[in-house]
Amino acid sequence: MRGRAEMTQSSGYPAPRTRPWRPAPAVGLSLLLHAAAVATLAASPGLWPWVIGGLAANHLLLSAAVLWPRGRVLGPNLVRLPPAAAARNEVSLNFDDGPDPEVTPRVLELLDRYQAKASFFCVGEKAAAFPELVREIARRGHSVENHSHRHASAFACYGFGRLRREVDAAQAAIAGITGRAPAFFRAPAGFRSPLLDPVLAACGLRYVSWTRRGLDTVHGNADAVLRRLARGLGPGDILLLHDGAPARTRDGEPVVLAVLPALLDRLAARGLKPVTLPDACRDGPAA
Ligand SMILES: [Zn+2]
Repeated sequence: MRGRAEMTQSSGYPAPRTRPWRPAPAVGLSLLLHAAAVATLAASPGLWPWVIGGLAANHLLLSAAVLWPRGRVLGPNLVRLPPAAAARNEVSLNFDDGPDPEVTPRVLELLDRYQAKASFFCVGEKAAAFPELVREIARRGHSVENHSHRHASAFACYGFGRLRREVDAAQAAIAGITGRAPAFFRAPAGFRSPLLDPVLAACGLRYVSWTRRGLDTVHGNADAVLRRLARGLGPGDILLLHDGAPARTRDGEPVVLAVLPALLDRLAARGLKPVTLPDACRDGPAA
């Protein structure tokens, strides 16, 4: 089965194989620029204002890339399902920031009602706090993926060591509960460090952002969230919602629960089939 994260037994749980890391062109150029800066300063210390200016400009551009969640400047990034999945009329619903004891079971009920499968990007700490919920997600045929261990707002500013610990800890927590190590990763808020890709490569994880997101953690207007998600709805879409910390409607209902039935109705009316990310990507990487 090409492409699907192949299982090997290591550290006591099945884990995806590592993949080779090649720096994205922008990251490679940045590394070269830093090496050139050191060489220039050694040869001609008087040029330091130019060297500092060049490095500052480079860091400004990298920061802009961090704040561009759907960009590919910092490494491969799945923003749509592969063409083979789109040809099968597949879409993927993703739920971030859970599991949540109030919201996740109700999301699972709604998905079952429409025979829809989804991918849940769980926070490692929350998964460890609610292992039964995580097992239930997997038992119903959905995939559980990695959304970092603590969902720290400073995640994109971490160095290699902290990034690796955050990714590893969530990977171990989820694999220890479901028996399957996640194959996909999404950074908190979609802000991705320039140092993240080698960490993901070492863990055998693929980076995913989204085709459209509902912004359902900040906006409680269900109609607006649905409009945002359904604009140009089509095969291959990756649609992002949240079962953890969702905004509430005026009635106090988590907005994801108000949006989901209408969204699933629209998908059914268009003949679009919601599947998990591992299922959609079973033919091989195409990000
Ligand atoms: Zn999140």
